[in-house]
Amino acid sequence: MTISRLLLLFLCVLFSKHLLSQKITLIHNVNIVDGNAKPAYKAFVLIQDSKIIYIGSKKPNASIDLVIDGKGKILAPGFIDSHSHHFGDLNKNKAGLSTSSQGITTIVIGQDGNSYPMDSLTKWMQANPVVSNVASYTGQSSLREIAMGENDLYRNATAKEIDQMKSILALELEKGSLGLSTGLEYEASFYSSKQEVLDLAKVTAAHDGLYTSHIRSEDLHMDEAIEEIIEIGRQTKMPVQVSHIKIANQLNWGTANLILKKLDDARKAGINISADIYPYTFWNSTLRVLFPGKDFDNLASAEMATKQLFDPSASYLMQYAPIPSYKGKSVTEIGIERNESPAQALMSLIKIAEDFKNANPNYTGGIEAIAGKAMSEEDVKVFMAWPEAIICSDGNAGGHPRGYGAFTRVLGKYVREEKLMPIEKAIYKMTGQSADFFGFKDRGRIAVGHYADLVLLDPNTVIDQANIKNSNALSTGIDMVWVNGTIVYQAQKSTGKQPGVLIKRK
Ligand SMILES: [Zn+2]
Repeated sequence: MTISRLLLLFLCVLFSKHLLSQKITLIHNVNIVDGNAKPAYKAFVLIQDSKIIYIGSKKPNASIDLVIDGKGKILAPGFIDSHSHHFGDLNKNKAGLSTSSQGITTIVIGQDGNSYPMDSLTKWMQANPVVSNVASYTGQSSLREIAMGENDLYRNATAKEIDQMKSILALELEKGSLGLSTGLEYEASFYSSKQEVLDLAKVTAAHDGLYTSHIRSEDLHMDEAIEEIIEIGRQTKMPVQVSHIKIANQLNWGTANLILKKLDDARKAGINISADIYPYTFWNSTLRVLFPGKDFDNLASAEMATKQLFDPSASYLMQYAPIPSYKGKSVTEIGIERNESPAQALMSLIKIAEDFKNANPNYTGGIEAIAGKAMSEEDVKVFMAWPEAIICSDGNAGGHPRGYGAFTRVLGKYVREEKLMPIEKAIYKMTGQSADFFGFKDRGRIAVGHYADLVLLDPNTVIDQANIKNSNALSTGIDMVWVNGTIVYQAQKSTGKQPGVLIKRK
């Protein structure tokens, strides 16, 4: 035996020993939709531990621990939920079905102005493994609560309070927060000045962060709200994103193209603005957002809301702690029960909830929530097809069906049934495009060296099954889901594994 042969043998032994020490999975017989919006292609994929180590047309020469026959289905990167409220559910339900059953492998939390401090999140994730990866924004409302006190938010912040918020925010960004989120339509931030938001946005930009916003109005004053976020993008030059873009004022239905023209014009002027969207014509929120002027006892405002801002006969209470029997009923139905018009019922529901809150200051559960039918199908489609829109769920488990079905609904209803876009494009909006926005360099694509966050799905059957009456129904057509190389979901069931990690901004 020559020296070179001996060396080769030695290397082979070394290599196979190295491979043996780590688990290798081969996935074959799949069409790869790699998260780049390029046409699907056939290849073998090799996973070692948490990462993808091989993609190729030839079967790799390796000692394999597990072989997965994809049966000709699609292998895609795991979906990134760019606006999620699932974190509480992942804590309560270790199976994590709300995310993994729709193919989500990473959730981005800290949305609409509400977040946990990065230190708490880090500690919590170390002690309590979860099924999905998690990344978080820092929320303006949470900063306001620290600086102003949680019961004193319905006003402008003082200069001193803004300074305090700025320094906390800077620390959070250094600890890996993705950026700043705002929920300007909600009362905890509604009364903040544009200057306050801009000041915080500037701190975020100085740390190379991102800005995402549930804008100040999604209905009557939407134009002005869009102007506000464009201005933030102009002044800070950082990427800014409109959260769950929608037109919730019936009088403006059909004008999605006008909104997009405004956003595209801003992009042409160098402003990096984009949006995320969920695929439904109804939202889920507090009843209070139906009063843009926050004048909850004004009958004229209530009447305007029932005519313009939502359809009371198709909008259902998803939660109502003061009178649990109202849950699942529409505002119109509750009005009939109470002998009130829909507008009067809307006002009563808010008043009763407020009294309940005051009488039960230590009540920790949600008091009220409504699924508000408020958008046109056509606008949803126009927004979804916008090249700068990425897909989100805005969901949690047990409320709006988007918590279990947003991503599969896009693939089943909008891609397969309505042919709104090719599946490669839709998957790009759920993976590679989102990863680019968040700066996730090793996720969101099927590529060598990337984490093996993957979903095996059947393009012929994938679709959501959750609806208002059965919001936890599992989607069909999601065959298998991997998070960091570990199978977390298979045959409509959790595998009981929790390989999710906290992703920090680099
Ligand atoms: Zn929101």
